[in-house]
Amino acid sequence: MADAACTVIGGGVVGLAIAAELSARYSPLILTERNQKYGQETSSRNSEVIHAGIYYPPGSLKAGLCVEGREILYSLCARHEIPYRKITKVITATTASELNDLEEIYARGRENGAPLEMLTRDQVQSLEPQIVSVGGVFSPTTGIISAHGLMDYFAGAARQAGATIQTRCTVVGISRRTADYEILIDEGGTRSTFTSERVINAAGLEADTIAAYAGIDVDGEGYRLVYSKGCYFALPPRMSGSVTRLVYPVPTKHSLGVHAVVDLGGRLKFGPDATYLSSRSLDYRVPEEKRHQFAESVRRILPFIQDDDLTPDMCGIRPKLQREGEPPRDFIIREESEKGLPGFVNLIGIESPGLTASPAIARLVARLIS
Ligand SMILES: Cc1cc2nc3c(=O)[nH]c(=O)nc-3n(C[C@H](O)[C@H](O)[C@H](O)COP(=O)(O)OP(=O)(O)OC[C@H]3O[C@@H](n4cnc5c(N)ncnc54)[C@H](O)[C@@H]3O)c2cc1C
Repeated sequence: MADAACTVIGGGVVGLAIAAELSARYSPLILTERNQKYGQETSSRNSEVIHAGIYYPPGSLKAGLCVEGREILYSLCARHEIPYRKITKVITATTASELNDLEEIYARGRENGAPLEMLTRDQVQSLEPQIVSVGGVFSPTTGIISAHGLMDYFAGAARQAGATIQTRCTVVGISRRTADYEILIDEGGTRSTFTSERVINAAGLEADTIAAYAGIDVDGEGYRLVYSKGCYFALPPRMSGSVTRLVYPVPTKHSLGVHAVVDLGGRLKFGPDATYLSSRSLDYRVPEEKRHQFAESVRRILPFIQDDDLTPDMCGIRPKLQREGEPPRDFIIREESEKGLPGFVNLIGIESPGLTASPAIARLVARLIS
């Protein structure tokens, strides 16, 4: 018999949600996380927005799992005291030429299952008097959530159902045996192995590396990740009342655009931008030199913002399947029996809206291995 019925690799919000979902069904369940604590990478370096599901192509995993995840999150937050606010969101067209795109966003969002309302310029202005607008879309179901609060909840639920969360435990190899997997781990320089009947790869920025350990040709399968850094700049507390909800510009083909993000403490920041990285190093510095470029983007929405009002804040790194200049890619969430890896599930390219979708992703994984 294998040492574990199920192993989840990666203690971000997705791995933790999966551990919470599966731990009552598969025992022993082990979650391995390479850092000192869970949730130290992308899951704690994001906008903490509960997305409504507006922008993604209808029928995609991103659209379906975002809408389903949003509803589960609101219900979890209400029942388990996870800090959140249904703060709502406005997408504002700042020139008449953007109004057609706004209509398209409205239609696509509605098709995905996001309740939306078209707003006239006056209606936008009565919601957000300081922003530039010729018309907008209102999203009443967009909210903000404490990502740490959510991860603590998932970790607690998983442990309560008997799961072990093993931190400082890096997976460095996987081999398929007749009826299970042998997993090679490194704990502070000491290597050992254990066996597991099922393996769920939720390793975020290293999900392609883990797939390669299992023998998958990541380039041939289109699983190779590239990194895209997203930085934020913050406004001082005296200016945090400039908007009272999340405010987004009309997105371009390549990006959602730098937008106004309000956090649960009432701080107002702008971001994230998007810069592809040439290497896979986790460099979390926010370059000062971006200040002017940021201020220019922010002035599209709030014209009175000066460069000096902005201070470098935090950043996160997206695990992207989409290379620069290529069309967007959907999440990969696949049980790999066809590749001779039964009970092995890969989750690759779980960028935004991965936080929102996390509980729905966990349910999908449960169905894939049942
Ligand atoms: C700038 C930015 C803004 C975003 N904003 C939002 C938002 O507002 N709303 C939203 O819904 N989504 C947002 N997202 C997306 C969201 O943050 C991610 O989709 C989500 O956090 C992914 O979670 P994860 O568990 O897959 O990955 P991670 O949080 O990266 O977790 C993966 C874990 O695996 C561990 N790991 C890696 N390799 C190994 C190994 N070999 N052995 C053991 N452990 C390993 C890592 O240490 C890490 O803890 C944003 C992302 C970014 C970058």
